[in-house]
Amino acid sequence: MWKNLVEAVLELIYPPRRACPLCGGGSPDASVCPACERLLEGYAGETICPVCGSFGKPGDPPGRKTNNYCFYCRGGTRPFDLARSVGPYEGPLRDAVHRFKYRGIKTLARPLGALMAEAAGRERAFARTQALVPVPLFHRRERQRGFNQALLLARELEGLLGVPVLERAVVKIRETPPQAELPGRERLHNLSGSFVVADARPVEGKVITVVDDVFTTGTTASIISQILRQAGARQILVLTFAGTRRYGEN
Ligand SMILES: [Zn+2]
Ligand SMILES: [Zn+2]
Repeated sequence: MWKNLVEAVLELIYPPRRACPLCGGGSPDASVCPACERLLEGYAGETICPVCGSFGKPGDPPGRKTNNYCFYCRGGTRPFDLARSVGPYEGPLRDAVHRFKYRGIKTLARPLGALMAEAAGRERAFARTQALVPVPLFHRRERQRGFNQALLLARELEGLLGVPVLERAVVKIRETPPQAELPGRERLHNLSGSFVVADARPVEGKVITVVDDVFTTGTTASIISQILRQAGARQILVLTFAGTRRYGEN
């Protein structure tokens, strides 16, 4: 009882800083602030690529078109069936990923995961998900960071979507230079052979949703989708917090 009272008094003297999970600005109940809420609504109404979910070029008229394939998906060679995200990796979404991943604010997994579940709810395909596969980190990297951001998000989604996380089905067997430092064409080469399916039994014949924090060119998601397909997965969906935006002619 005394402990609670002391805590209550301390809270009066030093009110906890409640912040919008996206922009980090003030928010009385720590929910998404009105400005970010408007931003999310805008993203949800944008024209996206029907396969990878990439957002349109800045200035594209709103409203969903069904034949708006991006350069990467036009050939029909993506190894995953569908990818979706909450919004493009820019502005407050980018800030949120940085605070979550690099500053280690693990409590952000809850609001970010909830937004991902909402994005999945807008796309019927995700209702068929039977298991979640978080993109793994190499064990040394995970130890350095102290956590795997994809796994934290997948654990949130486990409760919200009601499907299990397969934590060790896919593992990363060697370290690779950070993808962000490489040009697009070298990213595939950088990653190929670095992930393996360690346990194929729980993925065989299943609809799998691969979970990660960010989808940029989709190279990581593609490699994991490829090996899951080889291991017998029936359908592969990708769900990330932040996605990509198309510039120029792609
Ligand atoms: Zn905000
Ligand atoms: Zn696409």
